[in-house]
Amino acid sequence: MNEAATTAIRVEQTRQSKLPQVDFNNLKFGQTFSDHMLVADYVDGHWTDVSIVPYGNLSLSPATSALHYGQAIFEGMKAYRFANGTVSLFRPHKNLERFNKSALRLEMPEVPEDIFIGGLKTLIDLDRDWVPGAEGSSLYIRPFMFGTEPALGVHPSDSYKFIVITSPVGAYYHKSLRLKVETHFTRAAEGGVGFSKNAGNYALSLHPTRLAQQEGFDQLIWTDANEHKYVEEAGTANLLFRVGDTIITPSSDTILHGITRRTIIEIARHWGYQAEERKVSVKELIDGIEDGSVTEAFAAGTAATLTPITEIGYEGRIYTLPDPAKRVFSNKVLQYLNDLRYGRIDDEFGWNLIVD
Ligand SMILES: *Cc1c(COP(=O)(O)O)cnc(C)c1O
Repeated sequence: MNEAATTAIRVEQTRQSKLPQVDFNNLKFGQTFSDHMLVADYVDGHWTDVSIVPYGNLSLSPATSALHYGQAIFEGMKAYRFANGTVSLFRPHKNLERFNKSALRLEMPEVPEDIFIGGLKTLIDLDRDWVPGAEGSSLYIRPFMFGTEPALGVHPSDSYKFIVITSPVGAYYHKSLRLKVETHFTRAAEGGVGFSKNAGNYALSLHPTRLAQQEGFDQLIWTDANEHKYVEEAGTANLLFRVGDTIITPSSDTILHGITRRTIIEIARHWGYQAEERKVSVKELIDGIEDGSVTEAFAAGTAATLTPITEIGYEGRIYTLPDPAKRVFSNKVLQYLNDLRYGRIDDEFGWNLIVD
């Protein structure tokens, strides 16, 4: 893709790469950062000083508005290395689109395409040796923006920072999930910010998730705020179920619109499955597990791609799903996505953006 490069990006290279110190066979998620980061400032209504600089600490006023009033949003995406060395981003324009929707809801400025996509391409190109190539590994990319006005008082910040940091991640261990249907706490209500990737949505999930983990679950299945009767999502991943040849996924604006979920739905339809994006009641799900009509259930998100759900806890009972090894659709779609992202098959949908 040929972006009109209207914004010049200043590049200050590191003097000493940290690459030789990294053990690529022992990466813990989100703990190792590559040599450079992209930083841009929004001041007086304009984005200025778009720069790539060595990864390092920020200096901020203690009154920085995001720390008090929570104007903070982010994205999560990945770059992959093909066997021939090509580095590719997966559907990054979808992340840009969602980022700007989050920004609008939180009264923050949009980040233009030439800074977001153009900046990403320049950054990933510079740090391309940080993109691991082993099966299942990738360079995790974290774009984020927050209000920087050094003043108290509840109002939209008058200045913002947009930053992109990247982190090599190893093969994700595809364990299966035990999820608890949450019927007391609420993640998002209609008219709220559930669809946006803003920092507060994760802060509020921590305590209820900790309680569920103390009962032996991995994560929660959030339900609707009004009645706790409809299934929403897992908090960092969306949920999909298979019934017959139909893939069903909850849909509403209280749910984060995941790009992995969208991608899986588009693939399912292309393969001749039906796909339904609609309200799914907890009762429909539980009844379907009990009568055997729900044959597959999984969580979908950038971090883990697709993780099978094997047990669901609801009102003190555990409902068990079929053996993940026997799940035809989940296994086929995961294989297809891996083949596509590592460049082993034809990119028939045009989802890979090559960084050259
Ligand atoms: C990021 C995220 C997802 C998954 O979205 P992807 O675009 O597939 O990574 C799902 N739910 C929540 C709450 C998220 O933050």
